[in-house]
Amino acid sequence: MRMKRRPRIIAALATVSLITACSGNDDGDGGAEGDAAGYPEQNITIVVPFSAGGPTDTVTRMIADPMAAALGGKIVVRNVEGAGGTVGAGDVARAEPDGYTVLMHHIGMSTAPALYKDLGYRPLEDFATVGLVTEVPMTVVARQDFAPATFQDLVTHVKANAGTVTLANAGIGAASHLCGLLFQAAAGVKLQEVPYQGTGPALTDLVGGQVDFMCDQTTNTSGQITAKKIKAYAVTTPQRVQSLPDVPTTAEAGMPQLAVSVWHGLYVPADTPPEIVEKLSGALKTALADQAVIDQMAKLGTAPVTAADATPDAHRAHLEEQLTTWQKIISDAGVQPS
Ligand code: ASP
Repeated sequence: MRMKRRPRIIAALATVSLITACSGNDDGDGGAEGDAAGYPEQNITIVVPFSAGGPTDTVTRMIADPMAAALGGKIVVRNVEGAGGTVGAGDVARAEPDGYTVLMHHIGMSTAPALYKDLGYRPLEDFATVGLVTEVPMTVVARQDFAPATFQDLVTHVKANAGTVTLANAGIGAASHLCGLLFQAAAGVKLQEVPYQGTGPALTDLVGGQVDFMCDQTTNTSGQITAKKIKAYAVTTPQRVQSLPDVPTTAEAGMPQLAVSVWHGLYVPADTPPEIVEKLSGALKTALADQAVIDQMAKLGTAPVTAADATPDAHRAHLEEQLTTWQKIISDAGVQPS
């Protein structure tokens, strides 16, 4: 059963920015609900459930401009942070299903049900999938002056200093949290975790030396790794990342169990008219074929998904598979939902 919808207000702390203005008329909050023919007749909001400046936000802002151009409308990106991405996702689950509130989420959509007793939304029932966007490798990174020199040294160091080493993440349900869980399970340690509203601010603290290490997407860490402001120990994909050729994979570094890529997708509330979902998916495909988007993603260690994956059906099938996969991995790791 769908939960009661809230009016289109999203958390007061939200930060907003207008991405682009094309030909569509901006008539504020009005507009015919579910009118696919004239869509879009007002601003479309893409909710990012993490902080501005972080990796989910970065990918969203890359595609918002070309998507808006393809739709002939305006797109606003709104950051609704909290609880590992579940606050923003919950807001979109309860929004009007009229195509004007869209969610950008990542792998956390498939892991949160295994991590929360009462999530407040159901990934498959409360959302319609629009399309996959990208799949981003993670890096295991540390403050530049953190003692361990290699990934193997890191494992030895955290085992010997479990009481004092700090591990940053973006809250329970975030990709950084998941990667941290897998790391701790594989290393057999329990570390002190420091949650942030997103890995944008976590990275700032890592550069500043306030926390010791974390996992995060290459879309956030690449620049700081290359500038030698942080140390990179490993990438969490089976192959090395082209833009970070010197960084070994976790498998090469002796921890093949730490394997995770952060897939992203766009969602709208369930019951959004299928014609509107199709228009959004078409605009997503156009944005992902944009050479500027491809180039920006390549610089940050990732790439757009294929046109076939930027579709509602492919996205839904992936979500279904990932929900099953992560439920098992998380429970096998002995993690209890909180
Ligand atoms: N990378 C973050 C995570 O750990 C989210 C973000 O700030 O985009 O899920």
